Amino acid sequence: MLNTLYHTPKLVVIVTIYEDARKGILTSEMKDIAKAEGVDPEVVRRGLAAGRIVVLRNVKRAGKVKLVAVGEGMLTKVNANIGTSNTLIDLNMEIEKAKVAKKYGADTIMDLSTGGNLDVIRRKIMEAAEPLPLGTVPIYQAFMDVTHKKGAGLYMDEDDILNTIEKHLKDGVDFMTLHVALTKELAIKAVRSNRAEPIVSRGGSIIAAWMLEHNKENPMLTNFDYILELFKEYDAVISLGDSLRPGALEDAHDELHMLELIENARLVKRAREAGVQVMLEGPGHVPLDRIIADVKMAKRLTDGAPYYILGPLVTDIAAGYDHIAGAMGGALAAAHGADFLCYVTPAEHLNLPNPEQVREGVIAFRIAAHAADIVKYPDRAMKVDIEMGRCRGKLDWECMIRLSIDPEKAKEIREQYGPTSLKSCNMCGSLCVFLLLEKWRKGLRASQPASPTP
Ligand code: SF4
Repeated sequence: MLNTLYHTPKLVVIVTIYEDARKGILTSEMKDIAKAEGVDPEVVRRGLAAGRIVVLRNVKRAGKVKLVAVGEGMLTKVNANIGTSNTLIDLNMEIEKAKVAKKYGADTIMDLSTGGNLDVIRRKIMEAAEPLPLGTVPIYQAFMDVTHKKGAGLYMDEDDILNTIEKHLKDGVDFMTLHVALTKELAIKAVRSNRAEPIVSRGGSIIAAWMLEHNKENPMLTNFDYILELFKEYDAVISLGDSLRPGALEDAHDELHMLELIENARLVKRAREAGVQVMLEGPGHVPLDRIIADVKMAKRLTDGAPYYILGPLVTDIAAGYDHIAGAMGGALAAAHGADFLCYVTPAEHLNLPNPEQVREGVIAFRIAAHAADIVKYPDRAMKVDIEMGRCRGKLDWECMIRLSIDPEKAKEIREQYGPTSLKSCNMCGSLCVFLLLEKWRKGLRASQPASPTP
């Protein structure tokens, strides 16, 4: 069932999924989500009602987009960021990346484009990404559009920002990162700080530069009530950006990081009071031993808002392998309560990723999400691992390849020295542990005494 629309002559009043849940109404959407997640529908309704689950959606695309629920009790989700830059504009490559991300198991895609015709690019990426929900960061387009019109993005005004947000909502964008919590005071503190990297968020840097240039407060903060009305109208999800997330281990959990988290927690409360679905974004770069505390703190301050994290990367020196550094942090964070992992590709900190690097990033984070789900929800997530273990023990290669998170890669490696008829593999050959003990294992299973080796 689509969300309920009550049309009046001048006004369209939308009852959001969040409001339905709060009224105790169990909609067919909630039941569908519960079925896909393998939980009781009441788990979904209660989580939505408490603001601990969000459904990434926009009424404009209801029915076209898969219902992806993020939050407490839901399987860990993975997002893939794609999009042009203003120095590398190749729409076909971005469409290819959307298809690759979808094929290899991303749950959502974010279009972070900053170069080319951004309306056309967003709509094409949205089309290629369907049925996955699409996210955006509208401040990028507001800034770039004004750059093209007036020669510099800093000439942008409040209307440019709000109109861009509304345009994305009208197009059917399901969730948006908004850097609302970065106050002018925090931006001044950040640029005067001794941080290794004062602000590493692109959207945060744009807002900070605008506030410093105009000596004005963050327009998304001063207009937050209006933004909430907009999101409510489309029943879309606000993802509160963390402009001051640490971009280096040295900056993790410093004063700036914590102050913005507290500000974001206040905004979560305001969004919930307005009946708008909201989630919180998180770091960044965090040492392994502080990741659990980070998740607990974010959850405690926001009363369990869905936590959407970038990585976190557990070392700063893994350039070229940052998908591994990020997946390590992501697995630990998700095992302790983070709900939504934004992937990192091997190109992170180095370049715009190509489609192959998108594939590697998605796979790395699917592994992280699954590893976390084994800890959080063993009854639902472990089944496939149990089956895989049994197939390995029987040397059932067809089954092992089929159950692999990336069957193409598994098959490619299995056959890398040419097609093989080996029962084992080339690693141990006839010394395969499963072959060496096969006779006795079979014997024991049939409850027969093992016969001595001839
Ligand atoms: S040959 Fe070695 S690596 Fe290959 S399946 Fe047997 S035990 Fe495993």
